Amino acid sequence: MGQRLVSVVRRGLILTGATRSMAELAACEPFYAAPSGGTTAASYAHQAHAPSGFHEYTLVGKRDAGRDSKLLTFALPDTMPTLGASVISGVKVKQEVAGEELDKSYSPTSPAERTETFDLLVKAYAPRKGGGLGAWLCALEPGQNASMKVKGAKKIVDGAPLARNRFRRIGMLAGGTGVAPFMHLVATLLADPEDATLLDLVVSHREPQDALLDAELAALAAASAGRLRVHHTFSRVTEPAAPPPAARSTGGTVFASTGAGRIDDALARAMLPSPSEDDVFILVCGTDGFVGDMAGPIERVYDAAGKKSKVQGPTLGVLGRLGFRPEQVFKL
Ligand SMILES: Cc1cc2nc3c(=O)[nH]c(=O)nc-3n(C[C@H](O)[C@H](O)[C@H](O)COP(=O)(O)OP(=O)(O)OC[C@H]3O[C@@H](n4cnc5c(N)ncnc54)[C@H](O)[C@@H]3O)c2cc1C
Repeated sequence: MGQRLVSVVRRGLILTGATRSMAELAACEPFYAAPSGGTTAASYAHQAHAPSGFHEYTLVGKRDAGRDSKLLTFALPDTMPTLGASVISGVKVKQEVAGEELDKSYSPTSPAERTETFDLLVKAYAPRKGGGLGAWLCALEPGQNASMKVKGAKKIVDGAPLARNRFRRIGMLAGGTGVAPFMHLVATLLADPEDATLLDLVVSHREPQDALLDAELAALAAASAGRLRVHHTFSRVTEPAAPPPAARSTGGTVFASTGAGRIDDALARAMLPSPSEDDVFILVCGTDGFVGDMAGPIERVYDAAGKKSKVQGPTLGVLGRLGFRPEQVFKL
């Protein structure tokens, strides 16, 4: 059992109701292990030691994370105590694939204060023109490098990144790999002894076999003392599906609910906090289609220098119909 897991167990953070075996929990150790000092206030902001520009990072670990998906662990150089990304931020990966220079975004899943390494959850799509970067990353073997740049802080509320206890409740709607930034967010908040935010994460996949990092989510929920509730739904099933494999192994007790079909008004109402509650905030992440259905489209605008920025636009879709106001919603 890893040293960090031992300290989590000793501190009584694993709920007695959780029946996952120690071996299963140990496999997910990096996600819920509380860092020795806990998340600090500085962990939420983009940190000065994150270098600008692209640098090489070496892959040191790789494991299956779901259908066609890998969890990739990269080493941090000695000059970087942590990745230095804000909550929530990301990295850009640059690589030539099939003769084309690609440059795409990925969201680290590991908590902000993780030292020595960071993780990316990457799905490998069938290569096509202008694509193939996910497949290239998933084919990397330990010892090989990827060129990455740490992106600046994402200004989520009041022109600033999220901070501890900024909201009483946060709801998250994730489509597919859209779960990656939320893994980072909940792992960071749950590792912060001073944070008390209640978290509802709703993850939508096509089928139960597409569930990503479900064992890690189960471990986080089990260790959260009830603060994190994870809900799954599967767009291609018409009857409430069996919970994903990780939840099944605990008798389904770890996942708060499992739905059938796409996230619609009724499902969102059942799984998310209500817009009339005080201090509630909802984050949405997924493909443009998913974000549009959940909260209305994001617009991309370009300045005179051709620099792209995203405009949130009005809150439409499911969240709009439920009565969430624009200041309660952020589309990642
Ligand atoms: C801010 C941000 C964070 C991201 N984080 C992650 C992450 O943590 N893990 C990850 O695997 N991908 C993530 N993506 C998507 C990633 O940047 C690439 O778009 C994805 O890897 C597909 O690229 P490709 O070259 O492999 O294939 P492509 O041929 O470009 O695309 C393959 C398929 O992926 C679909 N696709 C394109 N963009 C997205 C998207 N944003 N989300 C879901 N599907 C998409 C396409 O419609 C197509 O069907 C993120 C994107 C953004 C904008």
